[in-house]
Amino acid sequence: MLAMNYRGPYRVRADYKPDPEIEHPNDAIIRVTRSCICGSDLHLYHGLVPDTRVGMTFGHEFTGIVEAVGPSVQNLKVGDHVLVPFNIFCGSCFFCQKELYGNCHNTNSQATAVGAIYGYSHTAGGYDGGQAELVRVPMADVGPTVIPKDLDVDDAVLLTDALPTGYQAAEMGGIEQGDTVVVFGAGPVGIFAAKSAWLMGAGRVIVVDHVEYRLEFVKNYAQCEVVNFREVNDMAEHIKKMTDWLGADVCIDAVGGEAAGNALQHLTGRYLKLQAGSATVLHWAINSVRKGGTVSIVGVYGPTFNAVPIGNALNKGLTLRMNQASVKRHLPRLIEHIQAGRLDPKQIITHRVPLEEVSDAYHIFSSKLDDCIKTILVPPN
Ligand code: NAD
Ligand code: ZN
Repeated sequence: MLAMNYRGPYRVRADYKPDPEIEHPNDAIIRVTRSCICGSDLHLYHGLVPDTRVGMTFGHEFTGIVEAVGPSVQNLKVGDHVLVPFNIFCGSCFFCQKELYGNCHNTNSQATAVGAIYGYSHTAGGYDGGQAELVRVPMADVGPTVIPKDLDVDDAVLLTDALPTGYQAAEMGGIEQGDTVVVFGAGPVGIFAAKSAWLMGAGRVIVVDHVEYRLEFVKNYAQCEVVNFREVNDMAEHIKKMTDWLGADVCIDAVGGEAAGNALQHLTGRYLKLQAGSATVLHWAINSVRKGGTVSIVGVYGPTFNAVPIGNALNKGLTLRMNQASVKRHLPRLIEHIQAGRLDPKQIITHRVPLEEVSDAYHIFSSKLDDCIKTILVPPN
C-alpha cells in the first residue's frame, strides 16, 4: 500500500510498504477515506518527539471503511464507515472507566507516558497511523465510531482530534457565564477552542497568534477579538489592559512547546534555545489570567519543555488543567452541535492533497504557506 513514510526531521515522503494485517483477534483493518495533518504531527516532523523511527507512518486523524475484522470484534462490520479517535484505548481499565481515554493503562502503562496514539512514535506505542491507504486499528470494538448518515465525512474526520481537543480545552477552563477567555494559538485546535468557549457561555473571546491569515480566519469564524503578538510589547500587560486590569478569567494554551519558540524569537529578535522558548506561552497564559483564574493546556510539550512559572501560578491561586483529549467522551455532544448547526468544523479545511504529495503537504502546513489551516490527505482510491 501507499503510505506516508518518515525519513528523518523535515523529510517525509509517500512510499510503498506491506499492507497491515490482523495481528490480534480484536483488530480491524480500515481502508482510509480521509486523513489530516495535525499540529502534533509537526512535533514529529521537526524531530522533537523521542523515538520517532525512520519508516514510521504518521496520522492520528482519519476516517475509513472497515475492510476486515478480527474474530472477536463485535461492534464493527465490514463496510462500516467509521471515524477513529486518535487515542488507542481499551475501554475497561481504571482510567478508561473514568473516561480518561487518553490515559489508558493497557495501551501504555509507563507513568510518564500518554496512552497510545496512532502514528505518534514509539513513545506513544509505536503504532502506524492513517496517512496511508490502510491502517490497523487495535481494540476495534471501543474506539472507532460509525459515522452517522447525515454527517459529512469532512466534519467526521475533524471529530477524531482537532474539534474534541479544542472543546476539551474550553471545558477544562471551567468557563462560567460571561467569562473572558484568551486562546493562545489560532491553529485548528485554538480555532475550535475559541468556538467552544462561546458554547460554554463565554462573554468575550480573544485569540492570540502571529500568523495574520489565521487571525483573520478565526476573527470571522469564531466572532472573536484577535491580537497579533508581534504588535504587542508585553502580552500580560496588553491582556490586562483589555480586561479592566484584572486579567482574563481563563487562558488556553493551544500552542505547545515547539511553536512557543516563536514568541521568544519575537521578544529577543533572534532564536534562543527552544527550552527557554517553551516557557513563553505558559508565561503569557499564567501572567495574563486573573487571580484565581484557570489556565487550560492542550498544546503538546515534549520532555525538554519543563519550565513552568509555577511560583506565579501559586501566588495567584491558579488552577492549571491539562491533558491529551479524551476524544470518544465528547463525540455525542459534538455530533449534536454539528447536526444542530451550532458547529461547522469543515470550514477550517483549506487543502486537499493526494497522499502521493505528502511531502509538499507537510512543508506547506509547517511553513504556514498558502493560507493553510487544515490539510486533508486523500489516498488513491
Ligand atoms: P498548529 O501548529 O496548526 O497551530 C499552532 C498555532 O500556534 C500556529 O498558528 C502558530 O502560529 C501559533 N503560535 C506559535 N507561537 C505562538 C505564541 N507564542 N503565541 C500564540 N500563538 C502562537 O497546531 P494545532 O493543530 O492547532 O495544534 C495546536 C497544539 O495542540 C499543538 O501543540 C498540538 O500538538 C496540540 N494538540 C494537543 C492535543 C491534545 O490532545 N492535548 C491534540 C491535538 C493537538
Ligand atoms: Zn492531532
